[in-house]
Amino acid sequence: MAESSNLSIFKIGVGPSSSHTVGPMLACNLFCNALGENVSKVERIKIELYGSLSLTGKGHLTDMACIIGLNGIRAKDLSASLKDETISLAMQNHKINLAGRKEIDFSYERDVIFYQDFLPLHENGMKVSAYDCNGGVVLEQVYYSVGGGFVATEEALKNPPKQEQHKDIKISFSNAKELLALCEKHKKTIAQISMEYEEQFNSKEYIQKYCSEIWEAMQDSYRNGCSTEGILPGPLKLKRRAPELLKSDFDPKDPLSFVDQVSLYAIAIAEENGAGGRVVTAPTNGACAVVPAVMLYLQALYGSEFDCKVVDFLLVAIAIGSLYKKNASISGAEAGCQAEIGSASSMAAAAAAYIMGGDAYQICSAAEIAMEHHLGLTCDPVAGLVQIPCIERNAFGAIKAISAARIAISRKSQPKVGLDEVIKTMYQTGKDMDHRYKETSLGGLASLEWEA
Ligand code: SF4
Repeated sequence: MAESSNLSIFKIGVGPSSSHTVGPMLACNLFCNALGENVSKVERIKIELYGSLSLTGKGHLTDMACIIGLNGIRAKDLSASLKDETISLAMQNHKINLAGRKEIDFSYERDVIFYQDFLPLHENGMKVSAYDCNGGVVLEQVYYSVGGGFVATEEALKNPPKQEQHKDIKISFSNAKELLALCEKHKKTIAQISMEYEEQFNSKEYIQKYCSEIWEAMQDSYRNGCSTEGILPGPLKLKRRAPELLKSDFDPKDPLSFVDQVSLYAIAIAEENGAGGRVVTAPTNGACAVVPAVMLYLQALYGSEFDCKVVDFLLVAIAIGSLYKKNASISGAEAGCQAEIGSASSMAAAAAAYIMGGDAYQICSAAEIAMEHHLGLTCDPVAGLVQIPCIERNAFGAIKAISAARIAISRKSQPKVGLDEVIKTMYQTGKDMDHRYKETSLGGLASLEWEA
């Protein structure tokens, strides 16, 4: 794979799912771009969803994300009112403003098709087709939502771009061993190496601004999660708990009261995601609350000292996240929840260890420990919604991250398992996992009877 910036491991998106909401929306944006001037010829559009996108697509709002994306609206520009207007135009008035340029007829029953089978190249496949007034194909494109809101066309997955080392690429690492070797060689921290890597693609000012915006959006999602009462969308009719938790008295004499505090941070953000609100994909939407919950904990612990280190924190998390993306998966549909909550917890553990004063080896050890204790975690969302077990699972991912960072820092002996090995193990475990436990809602908790 050609080298590129890792910043987009964190990106502002909408809930509830990076692979089922953000990715399909982006695929539809890309389809609009590919149509270009041909948009004027289009009279009908068809969306076909396969595999996991179909099996849990309704609960994850994949259908609605596609409709919004075909209107040419990008995730980061979506407000609650724009979302409501666009969905109402499609579902009540039966119209789509294709690419934001041409209004065409739309029938949900006719134009959105859910298939039980899978497309060959990935668990999350979809096809978008545009037709002219005679039913002739104007454009037809297969996309795969490969996790974390990233999308690849069928051609790109079949023929990945060849490794082309850009002439200006001086720093690169594709696994933890190479990252640690760079730290040793240049006598630099992981945050510094990550910054130097990113500076090959963007200016330092841009990177700092990007990270600050990500942190702002994370804090916004926490505030919105705490201040919005009511019921989450979907048939479970799950009550939002964060506003009530916020009112709880955390006993300062209870040494474990930080657990309640971290749980509040995570539940507030994960509920905001479950409601389809604006959150930061980190590295996925299902796991969007793990990293910010750890950051909010560190902010409460260290105050302004932490505020000065936010960019470094995110750069460490990005570097670790890139290892999962390059060598394994961050998609629940591909490798189970260990790839989502596990990767997020590993990233957060590494960055927390950095803030707590850990060296590069302790940071990688923290990342390894956090993942090691998520291995085998299945993805079995009840009713296909990103609510049960996802919301509470974010709290556990954050608490495990803090624990992993502390264990790594206090350790005096050499760990026996390295970060690269655990990443490889997670991926293999995911590949071996039965498809019922990979975001299909066909097994585990998802197969239980539940009451609305
Ligand atoms: S169970 Fe985990 S991977 Fe599956 S939807 Fe929930 S958070 Fe995502």
